[in-house]
Amino acid sequence: MALHQSKPGRKDDVFDLYARDLAEQPLPKFRMPDNSSLPDTVYNLIHDELLLDGNSRQNLATFCTTFIPPQAQKLMQDCLDKNMIDQDEYPQTAEIEHRCVHILADLWNAPDAKGTLGCSTTGSSEAAMLGGLALKWKWRKKREAEGKPADKPNLICGPVQICWHKFARYFDIELRELPVLAGELGMTAAQVAEAVDENTIGVVPTLGVTFTGIYEPVEEISKLLDQIEAERGLDIPIHVDAASGGFIAPFLHEEVVWDFRLPRVKSINASGHKYGLSPLGVGWAIWREPADLPEELIFNVDYLGGQVPTFALNFSRPAGEIVAQYYQFLRLGRQGYQDVQGACAQTAQYLARELEKTGHFEMLYDGDGGLPAVCYTLNKAENRGYTLYDVSERMRMRGWQIASYPMPANRHDMVVQRVMIRHGMGRDLMELLVEDMIRTMDFLERNPMTNVEAKASFHHGS
Ligand SMILES: *Cc1c(COP(=O)(O)O)cnc(C)c1O
Repeated sequence: MALHQSKPGRKDDVFDLYARDLAEQPLPKFRMPDNSSLPDTVYNLIHDELLLDGNSRQNLATFCTTFIPPQAQKLMQDCLDKNMIDQDEYPQTAEIEHRCVHILADLWNAPDAKGTLGCSTTGSSEAAMLGGLALKWKWRKKREAEGKPADKPNLICGPVQICWHKFARYFDIELRELPVLAGELGMTAAQVAEAVDENTIGVVPTLGVTFTGIYEPVEEISKLLDQIEAERGLDIPIHVDAASGGFIAPFLHEEVVWDFRLPRVKSINASGHKYGLSPLGVGWAIWREPADLPEELIFNVDYLGGQVPTFALNFSRPAGEIVAQYYQFLRLGRQGYQDVQGACAQTAQYLARELEKTGHFEMLYDGDGGLPAVCYTLNKAENRGYTLYDVSERMRMRGWQIASYPMPANRHDMVVQRVMIRHGMGRDLMELLVEDMIRTMDFLERNPMTNVEAKASFHHGS
C-alpha cells in the first residue's frame, strides 16, 4: 500500500498504529516524506528506534546526569518554550541564572561572591573556551602594554579533556600538554614549573582528570607559580577545569584548596550537567573578580531598562537546565549534595574493593580522594588471551557500558577501564555489576579470544 493511502471505506486513524502509513515501511532517511502522518504513529516509530540506544542508567562511561527527579523534569517542561537569552521577556529566568552564578562563586570561595561575574554555558566545553579567551586577552593586553610581541601564546595543562585541544586549535594557542610521568595519574607541579615562559597565558589544572578521576595539585602548582613570579617576574594565572570536581571537592574534600581561596585562581569552569546534578545542557564559568574578565569580551544587552553583560559563544539556548540547576541547589542544599556525592564515593570504593578481590585487576584509582570513580587495568595483561576491550564487549551483553581506552600521550600502551559512579547508582546495582563482572572474567578465562593482538590494535586505532 502506498504511503498514506486510505484503505477503502475506513479512516486512517482506526487502524492499529503499526498497520498504517509510515509504519508499513522503513522510516525515510534521506528525504522528507511527501505526506503528513498521524502524530501517534510517528511518535511510536521514533520511540521504537530509540530502544536501540543503550540504557543511560547503565552507562558507566558517562559523567553526565542520568537520574532526573520528576520535579526537575516538570520544571524543564515548564521552560521548554523559553529562550534563556531573552532576558527582557523572561527576566525571572535571567534572575535565576544570576542566583546560580553567585551560589557557585560562594561555593568556590570567591572573595566577593555577590560581585562576581559568571555565566551559564552549554557545558564545560563552552565554559573552558570562555575562560581560555579571558586568559588570552589579559595576557595580550599586558604584552602590548609592555611593547612586547603577543603572537605566540601558550597554555600549560596535564592530560586534558578534548575541549582544551579544541580551544587551542580554534583560538590559535600552543597547547603544552604535559606528559603523564610513570607512576602519576595527572600533571605534577614540577612539570609545570619547567614548561612556563613569558608567552604562557595560563595554567589549567584539572580537578577530576577525565582519564583517571584524580585531582591535579592546584595548590602546589599555585605555590610554585608564586615562586616563579618572585624569581622571574612571570605572573601566570590559573584557570581550573573543575568540570566534575567543582561539585565534588566542596562537599567531600574541603581540605583540598583548589578554588578562589588561591588568589592565583582567576576562573573556574564546571559542568552543571555532570556532578552538578542538572539535566544535560548546562555548564558554568565563574571569574574571581570582575577585573579578571576583560571587558572587551562582554557584550551588553538591554534588560528591563538596564544593561546586562553577556559573554557566550551561543545565543539562543533552552532555559530549563538552568532552572533545574537552581532546583537542585534548593532541593538538596549543601547537606544534600554532601550526602549524594558521599554515597557515590562510598559506592565507588566498594566497587574498587570488590574488583580487586577478583584478582584480575590492578587498581589505578580506587574512588578515594577524587571523583566517585574507579580506574583500573588488567593485571598480567600480556599473558591473557583477551583484552579489556573484550571485557567491555561481554559486559555489554547485560547492558553495562564500561569504557576501555588507552591512556593519553606517552602512556598510550596502557589500556584502562573507568567506571563513573553517579547519583542514582545504589549499592545493590553495584553488587549486580560485580557479579556480572565475575561471570564475564570466568567466561573469558575459559574461552580466550583468538587474534587478540589484531583486535587490540583495531580498537587503539578507532
Ligand atoms: C566533561 C569534561 C569537559 C567537557 O565538559 P562538557 O560539559 O561535556 O562540555 C571538560 N573538562 C573535563 C575535565 C571534563 O570532565
